[in-house]
Amino acid sequence: MQQIIDFFKGLFATDKWPARWHCGEWSDFHGWMYIISDLMIWTAYFLIPLVILNYLSAKKAIIKFQKVYLLFAAFILLCGMTHFFDAMMFWIPMYRLNALVRLVAGVTSLFTLFYLVKILPQAFKQKTSVELENEISRRIEAETKLAEANKSLEAFAYVVSHDLKEPLRKIRIYSQKLIGSTSENSDENRVAYVQKIITSSERMQAMVDDILTLSIVDNIAEFDNVLPGKAVAKAMQDLEIKLLESGASVNVGELPVVRGNEEYLAQLFMNLIGNAIKFSKSNPVIKIYGEVKGDKVIIYVKDNGIGIDENNVSKIFSPFQRLHNKTDFEGSGIGLAICKKIVDVHGGTISVQSKIGEGSTFIIELLKPDSAYK
Ligand code: ADP
Repeated sequence: MQQIIDFFKGLFATDKWPARWHCGEWSDFHGWMYIISDLMIWTAYFLIPLVILNYLSAKKAIIKFQKVYLLFAAFILLCGMTHFFDAMMFWIPMYRLNALVRLVAGVTSLFTLFYLVKILPQAFKQKTSVELENEISRRIEAETKLAEANKSLEAFAYVVSHDLKEPLRKIRIYSQKLIGSTSENSDENRVAYVQKIITSSERMQAMVDDILTLSIVDNIAEFDNVLPGKAVAKAMQDLEIKLLESGASVNVGELPVVRGNEEYLAQLFMNLIGNAIKFSKSNPVIKIYGEVKGDKVIIYVKDNGIGIDENNVSKIFSPFQRLHNKTDFEGSGIGLAICKKIVDVHGGTISVQSKIGEGSTFIIELLKPDSAYK
């Protein structure tokens, strides 16, 4: 106890020891090397905390674990002080003060270590700036997709309500005529009205079925390596009667394996082959072939039909967009919208090259099996 009291009483005393220059045998070179090295360390250890504090005050709002920064700054500063005192002791032998500074530095160092170990699990859980940037771009991408989906949903709802209204209006008008006044309602007229009501309701039924098909194509479908030839064969089986009736010939060439869903692809080919038969002059000739280009597989569905006006090719993949009157060609105008949705969920694209009177070629781009499917 007495030693401790004496220690603090003579904390700044320098008369009990010789200055370090006189303690042992120092050459100038050796002594100055010691002093300069200590002063260099002290300078750096004095400035590093300033840099840390400056950074901390600038980024205070976003920095986590601020206490660690402060502890680290204090620990470095105190370590620097010990080097400063070491250098000074060549002239002023303040061994007691130096010991006290070392004690404080030691305790602060251990405390910093303890605190670091404590927060380490939490620190590991923190996302790196690269991870955060990736997450932000993922979110932006998802938001953009959502905005696009909302937009097309709005357009879709508009088109659906608009197109469904038309047969509904007809049903209302002819029903009113049917129950309405009398004199012009010959039996013949009544039959014609009922016939129109039936046709309109059948048309509505077909439209509702198509809308349902469109809405159930989704991203949840399972994907596998698929031979498109098998999907084409399935589609042709379903179209057997139409193929026979139209006398169409379908020529299927080599089709490379793709990453996809066989059911969806069968539906895609069914719509395209069905259209090729429907929009033909006579004797439809349909060619289906493919090739690999980089990590993509391109499939072509070519017909010798009536063709499409170049100015309208961008329209036809939207729901209910028809270029032909329903009296010329039956349909609800949703087949190609289904095709587009199927290709979209495959991460691919669909387009068409065509000229009036010269047939059309639908071009489908899908992913090869070994290309990463996102
Ligand atoms: P739908 O066949 O019920 O009319 P689709 O969405 O399948 O609806 O096609 C949209 C429109 O695109 C058709 O009405 C037609 O005008 C045009 N079209 C589609 N396929 C072909 C084709 N192979 N040849 C010519 N026109 C086509």
